[in-house]
Amino acid sequence: MDTDTTRRKEMFRAWHGKVVDALGYKFNPDAEMVDFLLEQQVHIERKYGSPFCPCQSTVGRREDDMKIVCPCIPFHRRHFDYMKQCWCGLFIHKDVDDPTALRQIPASEVPQD
Ligand code: SF4
Repeated sequence: MDTDTTRRKEMFRAWHGKVVDALGYKFNPDAEMVDFLLEQQVHIERKYGSPFCPCQSTVGRREDDMKIVCPCIPFHRRHFDYMKQCWCGLFIHKDVDDPTALRQIPASEVPQD
């Protein structure tokens, strides 16, 4: 990995960490997965101008696509809080010790109240 990529990845790690901490989340303890996803975000940002989510597709409408710029937790709070993780699993709830026990849950199964 080149120096610029490493530097940008570490910037994302520091920035994301602060943002998600304030939202009650933390990085997944799987360091290899975290490294991989952050590196993907660097490549995505270079290609598309913003660090869009590595596990979601953009739709070409800016107002919708900006809702999947990492960390996208504020836009999908109810869903992520219910799953105790984000879609990629990059971030998990602070109260989760073992994220391997978590599962992805469709938005349609998330209680509305
Ligand atoms: S799902 Fe997770 S990794 Fe993807 S943009 Fe949202 S917070 Fe970031």
